[in-house]
Amino acid sequence: MLSKLRKISLSNWILIGMVLGIIFGLFLNFFVHNPFIKDTILIDNIFYLGGNGFIRLMKMLVVPLVFCSIVVGAASISDIRKIGTIGGRTILIYLITTAIAVTIALVIGSIIQPGAGLNMSMAGQPMNATLNQTMTDTILNMIPENPLNSLANGYMLQVIIFGLLIGIILAKLKEEVQIINDAFTQGNHIMMELTSLVMKVAPIGVFCLMARTFAGLGFEGILPIAKYVICVLIGLAIQAFIIYPSLLIVFTRLNPIRFFKRFASVMLFAFSSSTSNATIPLNLEKLSEMGVASEVSSFTIPLGATINMDGTAIMQGCAVMFAAQAYGMDLGLTALITVIFTAVMASIGTAGVPSVGLITLTMVFNSIGLPVEAIGMIFGIDHLIDMFRTAVNITGDAICTIIVAFKNESVDTEVYNGKKEPHTLGIEF
Ligand code: ASP
Repeated sequence: MLSKLRKISLSNWILIGMVLGIIFGLFLNFFVHNPFIKDTILIDNIFYLGGNGFIRLMKMLVVPLVFCSIVVGAASISDIRKIGTIGGRTILIYLITTAIAVTIALVIGSIIQPGAGLNMSMAGQPMNATLNQTMTDTILNMIPENPLNSLANGYMLQVIIFGLLIGIILAKLKEEVQIINDAFTQGNHIMMELTSLVMKVAPIGVFCLMARTFAGLGFEGILPIAKYVICVLIGLAIQAFIIYPSLLIVFTRLNPIRFFKRFASVMLFAFSSSTSNATIPLNLEKLSEMGVASEVSSFTIPLGATINMDGTAIMQGCAVMFAAQAYGMDLGLTALITVIFTAVMASIGTAGVPSVGLITLTMVFNSIGLPVEAIGMIFGIDHLIDMFRTAVNITGDAICTIIVAFKNESVDTEVYNGKKEPHTLGIEF
């Protein structure tokens, strides 16, 4: 029995925690009427402690995790300046596709309104001044006056800017600052380990958060979560099957159906593993079979797995709309632009491994003062969404790679169109 329980994966435990939490919360809502047991002992103490303790652990990860990974990411990005136009084009197209992705998510979120009707309370939540700021103030506020202050207070845009600058300098000074460079790389590693550790208590945290929410809301809480999932899936479908094929046609005139026929197996692998990083070799192999020169893909694909997360950005955009509606916050233009900017940056700061998109979501929420507690509501179904969004993440990497390679005359169109035998890397799957 015990060994069977041990075999259940963490993501399944989180799902179990969510389902049990919903059931238990509904049970409390309908059948327990003793306010001392229901409210005082369970909702306000046990579930509050378990749920918010977990949220605090997540918040604890954000600043060091994002800072280290942005520094490390930027340090490797500026290295590619050597590669010249390919590097510049790749980064540009990666950033643009991610910005398109968040925008799509925000539009869908405002149409479907996944969080409407939830009426979560903002009481005790700090409102962030960003919401009432003008665009000029927002831009000015991205520059840290005192980086330590930004880190200590979790001003994420300032942390990102400072991290980017440090990363670029590290890349420029290279061996002179090798120790610091290594320290950041190791710091990044440590934070990833710590993230895995925190994730181990996620099932309990999620159970408490869900039980607390559903004890108060009853069945009303289920529809918004279902709507949120639908929002994300529609966003992912638009990005994968409308935006990417259109980009491919506009920039290369290559047939997107051919692409998807060949690439489906890579998407399936990303779907089942939820990690862009592990999909790198398969992505390289398929692109090579499509006639893309490996000189280009061998650098753009690993880079994309690290900095280009369109699927994750879509989830984050939908989550922002969900939480803003649930807490009755009106997001003005400045807040929306801040979300687009932060989600694009979060995409750089998200490692290509399972669930990290949820951690960097905290940073997007922080940037406009949304209560991080709302993430608890969507935590339980995140594994499912992670699978879909990872498939889109790696598809984005491949499409952008083909476009960049095409512009660099590094795509053999005869191979792409099946008129010539491909050169493969020899990975069978
Ligand atoms: N699992 C995603 C990936 O590897 C990252 C995330 O969104 O959590 O691409």
